[in-house]
Amino acid sequence: MDQLTSFCIEIGEKPFRAKQLLRWIHQFGKADFAEMSDLAKGLREKLAVAAVIESPKATRDHTAADGTRKWLLSVGTGNGIETVFIPEANRGTLCVSSQVGCALACSFCATGKQGFNRNLTVSEIIGQLWWANKVLKAETVSAPVLNDASSAQQHGAEQQIADRSRAVSNVVMMGMGEPLANFENVVTALDLMLNDNAYGLSRRRVTVSTSGLIPAIDRLRERCPVALAVSLHAPNDALRDQLVPINKKYPIQELLAACRRYLVAAPRDFVTFEYVMLDGINDSAAHAYELVKLVRDTPCKFNLIPFNSFPGSGYQRASPGSLRIFRDVLMQAGLIVTIRKTRGDDIAAACGQLAGQVLDKTQRTMHGMTEAAR
Ligand code: SAH
Ligand code: SF4
Repeated sequence: MDQLTSFCIEIGEKPFRAKQLLRWIHQFGKADFAEMSDLAKGLREKLAVAAVIESPKATRDHTAADGTRKWLLSVGTGNGIETVFIPEANRGTLCVSSQVGCALACSFCATGKQGFNRNLTVSEIIGQLWWANKVLKAETVSAPVLNDASSAQQHGAEQQIADRSRAVSNVVMMGMGEPLANFENVVTALDLMLNDNAYGLSRRRVTVSTSGLIPAIDRLRERCPVALAVSLHAPNDALRDQLVPINKKYPIQELLAACRRYLVAAPRDFVTFEYVMLDGINDSAAHAYELVKLVRDTPCKFNLIPFNSFPGSGYQRASPGSLRIFRDVLMQAGLIVTIRKTRGDDIAAACGQLAGQVLDKTQRTMHGMTEAAR
């Protein structure tokens, strides 16, 4: 918003024009200045010369059997990012990417295996939401039917209209990349998601997922506290060091303390711990008991994620039996636990399967990995 205000001043316009522009671009999804009917004709022409509204372009568009939709969006110079839309009866969640690749190299993650190219810009991040809303709204207008019959019954007519006009109701920063490693751009994009003149999402409906960059968790608390998910994945430092290498810099106890500090300003009164269930690695009952002890003083919920495989990962998904035992141990200790539904895995759109197109600058990846991981 500040940048848009500066832009208006730069081209000799009143600052309040920024609010009008914001609404046209983000609330109404317009990319053509000529359609911005409450702006004077002269201004529309001036804008058309001075600026262009562009979002990343989709080069692939897949829909999974369960309705999960994945777009590969081109962000130039051979790089592509993935954005996933997960429709459910009462909400539509968009999984947004923050970087081309990821430098943090978690051992079980397809994005991490690909290396890192660059941070996404603010417009590439918010452009994913802009794009998804535009496509989804256009489709709902042409086919005015809700996701399924049961949701149509649950919703009143008004709610149906609201659903249609805002296809994305929740955003999770759980696509490619570590959002807190691209802090300024992610926070500016989050501000737009929350802005009533743009997407107007509530803080509770926007989640940042992080592998645990402690100083950035503290900054997020001060700058833009939204719901927080932390990728824990292990109950002790020895194991977490192997799975999430950034743990060597920011070990578990310090991470938990940062989570507790975060809760002072957070829109929810708990942190969500994500825990990927890897067969024979972190999925035993003993690990679950250790976890219970570990998080005793930290208000939290657990989201257990069955590992989604990709070629060359070297890991297997935990068995349904060990998943159940693990969950029961946590629940018997009074913790709230959900098991993440595996959505879209037939089109490699599930957690950790996003590979996009990453030209690795770190030279960490094996030649051909990008293709293999897709
Ligand atoms: N970089 C951030 C957000 C992106 S990943 C983070 O690490 O939190 C979103 C979630 O998917 C994280 O919890 C991540 O650990 C998990 N994940 C990564 N690879 C996975 C895989 N192969 N199967 C299941 N979950 C995975
Ligand atoms: Fe990066 Fe998150 Fe994947 Fe780790 S799990 S490599 S932090 S995207």
